[in-house]
Amino acid sequence: MNTSKENPADQKRVGVIGAGIIGTMAAWQLAARGHHVTVFDQWNSPNDRGASAGESRIFRTIYKEGPEYVQFLQKSGRMWRELEASQDAQVLEWCGGLTIGRPDQPEVAAVGERARTQGLEHRILDATAMRAEFPQYAVDDDEVGVFDPAAGVFRPELAVLAARNEGVRHGVQYRTYTKVLNIRPLANSVAVDTAEGASLFDSVVLATGPWAEQLAGFDVPLVRAKRLVAAWYPVRDLTMHKPANMPIAIRRHPEGGYSCFPCLDGMSVKILPHHLQWPDLGTVEELPRFIEPEFVRSAETTVARLMPHLDPTAIRVSTWTEGFTSDGAPIVGLSPVDDRIVLAVGMSGQGFKFSPMVGSVVADLVSTGSSADAISIMDPSRFNPGASQ
Ligand SMILES: Cc1cc2nc3c(=O)[nH]c(=O)nc-3n(C[C@H](O)[C@H](O)[C@H](O)COP(=O)(O)OP(=O)(O)OC[C@H]3O[C@@H](n4cnc5c(N)ncnc54)[C@H](O)[C@@H]3O)c2cc1C
Repeated sequence: MNTSKENPADQKRVGVIGAGIIGTMAAWQLAARGHHVTVFDQWNSPNDRGASAGESRIFRTIYKEGPEYVQFLQKSGRMWRELEASQDAQVLEWCGGLTIGRPDQPEVAAVGERARTQGLEHRILDATAMRAEFPQYAVDDDEVGVFDPAAGVFRPELAVLAARNEGVRHGVQYRTYTKVLNIRPLANSVAVDTAEGASLFDSVVLATGPWAEQLAGFDVPLVRAKRLVAAWYPVRDLTMHKPANMPIAIRRHPEGGYSCFPCLDGMSVKILPHHLQWPDLGTVEELPRFIEPEFVRSAETTVARLMPHLDPTAIRVSTWTEGFTSDGAPIVGLSPVDDRIVLAVGMSGQGFKFSPMVGSVVADLVSTGSSADAISIMDPSRFNPGASQ
């Protein structure tokens, strides 16, 4: 970690646009290094309009998405604990996690392979062991569960609040209900325009999640907003479905796929279906509240087949949005448009768990222009985007 706290000459005025989990983590890390930070959000922080809300999120470390992520995740896990300790708040329950399916199913095979090759603690449970230990998840005779003990479930709204409060403790100023209309690089500063006028900063961090395209200034769209749907099913046995007894799961089955979150509301379990399409939205504002009945029916069929201890009637269905890149990796790095602007967008359905490290990398980039923790697959220059300005 670079720190400029000792040398006031290195302290910068930094504007962070977006107060979801990425913006609040970046603000905390920047202020902890001594910078003067102002965060803008068009809503409050936390809010349920963007990607950082919806009751639960998964943390896991055996990561099929790529070996580069594992250390990033392990460091993030330590930072989550640090945040919890300093804020005296529990935002993450370490309930463990399962990837469930046939051993030759590509994602199940990839998780097993990752755990083996990177020496990560794990257990492989066959169908008999799964039924004995985790009866919440019905399995066929030829299926296995790969158990990750370093996995857990977040309460995302509380996590955003904790990161925000920790930032405030380090001096971060929040300007909520303040929409940023434009970012203008000038000769000696970067201007952030709102309806109240322009504010000048040495660096600006773009953490606008699924709204990223509106301010990024690229000539080709790099981040598309997609629609994701979550549904909640009542538990028949509350104790069985509490985090103390039920791990999160990524389920892969020929009749359906989903991520699953243990009961946090005292009555139901949340499923995010993966086998149903996550369609593109033109803009975030087009996110529909109501979805096709076929979607709900298909998810209910999957639950009836694969979660026998739930009532397969969805009692809550809600729509959410997230920003996705074309290759599924986030965009974290100096903007090719102007290197006083740092991009932290396009988290592609992954960003919550490693948001503390994204914040740390952003703070390094603002402080020195580089970060030893940066992951090359997140580098914005991989898209070679031109500037539209
Ligand atoms: C349903 C769902 C399930 C997910 N499950 C997981 C999971 O299990 N594990 C995991 O790790 N990740 C998961 N993710 C991904 C993760 O939640 C996101 O990657 C993360 O929350 C993105 O945070 P963000 O700060 O980039 O975006 P957001 O939370 O959307 O924050 C962006 C903020 O920018 C503000 N903003 C935008 N434009 C402007 C403007 N012009 N002026 C001012 N403010 C502006 C918005 O109001 C918003 O508050 C999931 C995502 C979804 C949607």
